[in-house]
Amino acid sequence: MEPVGIYLHVPFCAAICNYCNFNRGLHDDGLRQRYVQALITDIRTFADPAIQADTIFFGGGTPSLLEPAELAAIIQACRDSFSVAGNAEITMEANPESSSTAKLEQFRAAGANRLSFGVQSFRDEELRRLGRLHSSQVARDAVRLAREAGFDNLSLDLMMWLPGQRTADWLESVDALIALQPDHASLYLLEIYPNAPLRDEMARGGWSVAPDDDAAEMYLEGLGRLDRAGFEQYEISNVARPRSRRSRHNLKYWQEGQWLGFGCGAHATFRGERWRTVSSTADYIDRVTAGEDVRLDRRALGATEQLEEALFMGLRLNEGLDLIRMNRHHGIDIWERYGQDLAPYVSAGLLIHEPGRRLALTRNGMLLANDVMTVFIGGTVR
Ligand code: SF4
Repeated sequence: MEPVGIYLHVPFCAAICNYCNFNRGLHDDGLRQRYVQALITDIRTFADPAIQADTIFFGGGTPSLLEPAELAAIIQACRDSFSVAGNAEITMEANPESSSTAKLEQFRAAGANRLSFGVQSFRDEELRRLGRLHSSQVARDAVRLAREAGFDNLSLDLMMWLPGQRTADWLESVDALIALQPDHASLYLLEIYPNAPLRDEMARGGWSVAPDDDAAEMYLEGLGRLDRAGFEQYEISNVARPRSRRSRHNLKYWQEGQWLGFGCGAHATFRGERWRTVSSTADYIDRVTAGEDVRLDRRALGATEQLEEALFMGLRLNEGLDLIRMNRHHGIDIWERYGQDLAPYVSAGLLIHEPGRRLALTRNGMLLANDVMTVFIGGTVR
C-alpha cells in the first residue's frame, strides 16, 4: 500500500478575511490549547503503526498561530501513532504577519520542513481590499526570515482576478513573487461566494473584477513569466522548481492517493472509504474529550465515483491521465468510452491525446477545464 498523507486542520485566524469560505474562526488562546489537546487525543486514538505516512500537512485557518511546542507535540503524536517516514514532507500553512524569526526557527526545529505562505498579492491596495492583515513588505520580510530560519522548501500563494485588479496589477505581483525565488507557487482564481462580505465592499467601493478575457490573459501571461523564470507548471494552479519541489502531499489528492484527516472539518480517503470530521471546533473538542466518534458519513467509495474522481483530478495535472494506468486501475479504455465527445477538444487544441498513452489538457485547455470535464459527468454510468 502506498504511504498515506496526514492532513491536520487548524481552524483559527487572527482576523476573518472578507472573501473567506473556509472552516475557521477567530483565534483564542484557551480554545486553541484545548483544540490541540483534542487533536492529539484524536490522532492517538486512531493510531495504527501499520499505516505508513510520508507527508503531513497543517492547513487552516492559520496554522502559524500554533505555538511551536504545540506543533512539535502534534507531529510527535503522528510519529508515535503511525510509521511516518524519516524524510516526510511536513508542510505548514502560514500567514506572513504571524511569522517572527524566533517562531519560524522554532517551527523548523519542531519538524516543519515546508512552509506555504498565504501572500495573495504584493500590492498593498489589493491586500487592504481583501481584509488581509499583512502588507507586501511584511510578506517579503517573512520570506527572508523563513530562509534564515532554514526553510529550503517554500511556497507562496497568489490570488488573481481580484476586485479592481487589472492584468498589469496581477503581473506586478507575479514579478514580485519571482524576485523572491520561492520553491513553489500556487496561483488561485478568487471565487467570491454568494454572501461574502467582500461583495458589499465591492459594491460600496465601485470595484469590479476584470472581464473573462482579461482573466484568461492574466493566467496565461502569469504562467508564461513563471516558465521563463525556470518554474515548471505541474498542475492547473501550481508551479514548482523542477520535480523535487512539487507538493508531495497535494499530489496525493490528484493522483488517487490516500490521506487521513484530523481536526474539525477534515476529510479522509482511506482504504476505499471516505469520511469527514465534525466541522464545529467546539463540537470536535467536546466529542473527542467525551471519547465519542468524530467521524461522520463514513462510506465505501463506489467504482463510478472512484473513476470520476480519478478523471477530474488526474486531468488537472500537466502530465494528465496515464491511459494504461487508468485501464489497469479502473478497467476502462478512456478513449473508447469518451473519445467521441473529447475529439472536438483535441481538434480545438485544448486537449492532447497520445493514443494508448496519455490524455492531457493544454494550457489553453486548462482555462476551460470545467467544460472539458463535463464530458465525464454521468458518462461513467452509460
Ligand atoms: S487567513 Fe485564510 S483561513 Fe483565515 S480568514 Fe483569511 S483566508 Fe480564511
